[in-house]
Amino acid sequence: MSNLYDVTIIGAGPVGLFTTFYSGLRSLKTKIIDAEPAVGGKIRYFYPEKIIRDIGGIPEIEGQELVKNLHAQANTFQPIIVCDERIIALHKQTDGTFELVAENGNKHRSKTIIIAAGSGTYEVNRLEVSGSEAYTNNLFYDIKDLASFRNKTVIVSGGGNAAIDWAQSLEPIAKEVHLVYRGENFKGHEERVKEMHASSIFVHVNHEITALQGGTNNLQSCIIHCNKNGSTTKIATDAIVVNHGIKVDLGSMLDWGFDISDYGILVNQKMETSVPGIYACGDVCTYPRKMRIIAAGLHEGPIALNSAKNYLDPEADHVAMISTHHENFN
Ligand SMILES: Cc1cc2nc3c(=O)[nH]c(=O)nc-3n(C[C@H](O)[C@H](O)[C@H](O)COP(=O)(O)OP(=O)(O)OC[C@H]3O[C@@H](n4cnc5c(N)ncnc54)[C@H](O)[C@@H]3O)c2cc1C
Repeated sequence: MSNLYDVTIIGAGPVGLFTTFYSGLRSLKTKIIDAEPAVGGKIRYFYPEKIIRDIGGIPEIEGQELVKNLHAQANTFQPIIVCDERIIALHKQTDGTFELVAENGNKHRSKTIIIAAGSGTYEVNRLEVSGSEAYTNNLFYDIKDLASFRNKTVIVSGGGNAAIDWAQSLEPIAKEVHLVYRGENFKGHEERVKEMHASSIFVHVNHEITALQGGTNNLQSCIIHCNKNGSTTKIATDAIVVNHGIKVDLGSMLDWGFDISDYGILVNQKMETSVPGIYACGDVCTYPRKMRIIAAGLHEGPIALNSAKNYLDPEADHVAMISTHHENFN
């Protein structure tokens, strides 16, 4: 079998996985490649146990359950799924096809490329408090096991959606949950913020964690400082969950000749990048009013794929037939 693929998708996060399914639906020979050892993107990396509530038709689902479902769906048409390979270079060949080069030297050939690389590789912003390195067992930058916080007093530091989500997920499990936020107005969804204020979570706005107290890996308390009036408060604490955002790195991808804006690959309504034959979808792409959420990417992926299909076959329909009646499901 030729090792030239119709479509190669870079990034096996939720968007890449769904795009892989859709590619099979359109009978394209498909490969998907991810730098991480397993599929799932940010969901696997940051919030496998968080409840996701903003996907149409799925009132709530745990992150890892969604990844499992997307993975199974992606496998419907037997694509090639490659993990643990970070793509570091892209070369256009004289015959119009592309060659992708992985960090380990492996090469992948494809007629079209869909970039679903999210934010590239990620690194969390650490808690910047002197001596915090002594508490690595008490400091968390994601939650992989909610049950391990049972009956503990937990401080969540941060003010975005994810921080609020963590505080709310912890509330029924932990003994006490405090949310410490240096700002005043939460950046999370209004409804979630309202629910949080109505819950048992202790909310400390205009506060920052300034000191940790206890012995090595035995956190006892932490000091929070009010940036409005300078007062300090001591809170007995077993664990701190930090959600101060992430540093992202798209690496060499930004030099592959695409138009870039707002730290994303600029696409048009067809999810075309400025390089013919290469499309982008999900968190990695940008356009006016872009939303970096799963639901948006699940819409963009099929558009990107349909554009790739039309690039390969200008006569092909620009959408798949309604999937329920697709011949591949008979
Ligand atoms: C803490 C947190 C909570 C969130 N909660 C929600 C929520 O409740 N609801 C919601 O809709 N959204 C939520 N989001 C946002 C959501 O996770 C993203 O919108 C979604 O993951 C984007 O999917 P993606 O497939 O485009 O990118 P990603 O999930 O980022 O996946 C991209 C994949 O590409 C791979 N990759 C990158 N560069 C390369 C390379 N060079 N070579 C090979 N592979 C590469 C990465 O390893 C990664 O696996 C949350 C995000 C965070 C951080």
